[in-house]
Amino acid sequence: MKTIKLREGKERSLLRRHPWVFQGSVAKGGADAGETVRVESASGEFLAWAAFSPSSSIRVRAWSFDEAERIDAEFFARRIAAAIRLRERLAIQSNGVRLVHGEADGLPGLIVDRYADTLVAQFLSAGTDKWKAVIADALLAATGLTRLYERSDSGVRQLEGLGPATGWLRGDGPTTVELTESSWRLKLDVAEGHKTGYYLDQRDNRADFARWVRQLGAQRVLNCYSYTGGFSVAALAGGATEVISVDSSGPALARASEHVLLNGFDPAHHTALDADVNATLRQLLKDGKQFDAIVLDPPKFAPSAAHADRASRAYKDINRLGLKLLAPGGLLTTYSCSGGIGAELFQKIVAGAGMDAGVDAYIVKRLEASPDHPTTICFPEGEYLKGLALLRA
Ligand code: SAH
Repeated sequence: MKTIKLREGKERSLLRRHPWVFQGSVAKGGADAGETVRVESASGEFLAWAAFSPSSSIRVRAWSFDEAERIDAEFFARRIAAAIRLRERLAIQSNGVRLVHGEADGLPGLIVDRYADTLVAQFLSAGTDKWKAVIADALLAATGLTRLYERSDSGVRQLEGLGPATGWLRGDGPTTVELTESSWRLKLDVAEGHKTGYYLDQRDNRADFARWVRQLGAQRVLNCYSYTGGFSVAALAGGATEVISVDSSGPALARASEHVLLNGFDPAHHTALDADVNATLRQLLKDGKQFDAIVLDPPKFAPSAAHADRASRAYKDINRLGLKLLAPGGLLTTYSCSGGIGAELFQKIVAGAGMDAGVDAYIVKRLEASPDHPTTICFPEGEYLKGLALLRA
């Protein structure tokens, strides 16, 4: 077993059970990609068992802070079982569930979503990549399922020195699956969809949105960055009659239109617009349009805190336009999934947008990811999705 010795004072974050050690904190030692190492303080105390990543600035990701624990197949089986147990305790009302959410589940770099009878995994770190086969077997054993699709095609793998890897890891068959969320039928393709196929983190927010649309009697709904129309289906379920889904992905919009039919809604109540959101918002404003409810759920504008400035301007711009397009009394639900933009900063950005738009609004709810995307108190960096539900004053 190789040992990584930290520099003086750099043991603090591991002692607080934060699982990362950056390159600059390592004094001595090295290992192969994904190899398990013993991490110790400058004075030689045990800190963690961890996976080494020679090319990443996050040089070490801790598996365990317990010196007696061994990092082996049983370890992964235990962690996966604990993650699944948490979802059972959370009683998620859907067969689309995030089963493993990386660091928060003690498995840094591993994402696993369950869509009905199909598992989809992303192995995003050198450590999880090394243990891929063991993890795959443990996932099947813990769930009793037979199909596991790999979607390790995220750009973050490059930072770990890993290329993309996709395809069936276990089992095979069609890659299109259907899930039930709220009472809605939603289809996705685990091979072609974004990320693992669908955005499960917005599940509860879509359900809330349907309730708000119903409660407010909102008819005209604009769903920006709609992907496959989850919020559009929610709006139709809430009784909206003029729903526009805007996205720059043609295949995602085709699926959105399919979802309207699949759920028995009138296709005349829905328009799919293949366009840039920013340009669309400007055009709608020019045309004098107004909406009773608007969703702004853009992709990650700030991949890290270093991009926060530019991203802040981009968020402010779409929120300014969104607020201006809101009919008096209308609802705006606005999100950021940028880890580099905290909830407090996001609220400030939206406040700035309101100032520029000349619009005030009540914050009716602060929004976050569904609870199967947990955040732990030791790893607050894991929190990425934040949003606000605003009612125009
Ligand atoms: N709200 C969705 C998830 C949105 S993900 C849901 O509930 O499932 C972000 C979406 O933004 C993606 O579908 C992507 O295709 C789209 N997108 C990214 N940049 C865009 C742009 N400039 N204009 C329009 N859509 C864009």
